[in-house]
Amino acid sequence: MDQQQLPAPGSGERTRVRRLPENAVTDRGTLHDILDAGLMAHVGIIDESGQPYVLPVAYARDGERLLFHGSTASRLFRSLAAGSRTCISVTLVDGLVLARSAFESSMNYRSVMVLGACVALEGDEKDAALRHISDHLLPGRWEDIRPPSPKEIAATLVLALALDESSVKVSTGGPDDADIDLDRPIWAGHLPIREMFGAPVPDVAGAAFPVPDYVERWTR
Ligand SMILES: Cc1cc2nc3c(=O)[nH]c(=O)nc-3n(C[C@H](O)[C@H](O)[C@H](O)COP(=O)(O)OP(=O)(O)OC[C@H]3O[C@@H](n4cnc5c(N)ncnc54)[C@H](O)[C@@H]3O)c2cc1C
Repeated sequence: MDQQQLPAPGSGERTRVRRLPENAVTDRGTLHDILDAGLMAHVGIIDESGQPYVLPVAYARDGERLLFHGSTASRLFRSLAAGSRTCISVTLVDGLVLARSAFESSMNYRSVMVLGACVALEGDEKDAALRHISDHLLPGRWEDIRPPSPKEIAATLVLALALDESSVKVSTGGPDDADIDLDRPIWAGHLPIREMFGAPVPDVAGAAFPVPDYVERWTR
């Protein structure tokens, strides 16, 4: 579906950001950028007893949907494959905000929430989705590694969730202190947080080979 035809993030009654609506972002480009920058999503389900569970999973964005993979033995994945409704969030923490009061101290972030029900992928679509997830998490790696065997594919559930009910909230910059606190004689501002890769560490057999060029190019 054309990106223009899809609802803007936060445009539904369930996804409209009410608390600090000035931090809501409604363009789909930002939705995509946040999802492309993340590696891990938190996926929520409510089980038969009514108990909510929120589990972290790897994911990739493929156009206007999110892709996940997991074991056919996973309760989370079995429930999602059966059509349980879910709420998925991806959060990038960009910094700590050091205000002059406890109340105004906070975080800078980019976060996405998606509501919906997943569909299980099969056949060629399932195979392509597995490659797509690998390309997002480990770009360039697929060509070097053994592809999944039919038995491994059969043991894996691959799910897709359409990005048609979403919201985006972004918080940036320094503290928003109340006027009565502005004269407090302390430092205030914000402390950016940056993610980075460390140096590659080979396993015993891997040490015989050079670090792949694509790994050298990965940055965070
Ligand atoms: C890293 C991080 C730390 C945070 N820490 C706190 C904290 O300590 N205390 C606190 O009160 N809040 C915190 N927030 C904000 C929090 O996520 C909620 O936005 C806030 O609590 C308001 O909740 P609400 O249910 O009243 O939102 P409402 O505005 O009523 O939510 C309505 C709809 O807006 C959308 N929405 C709300 N929040 C988000 C979001 N974060 N991302 C995407 N869509 C959203 C959803 O679609 C939701 O259904 C934090 C957010 C992040 C990302």
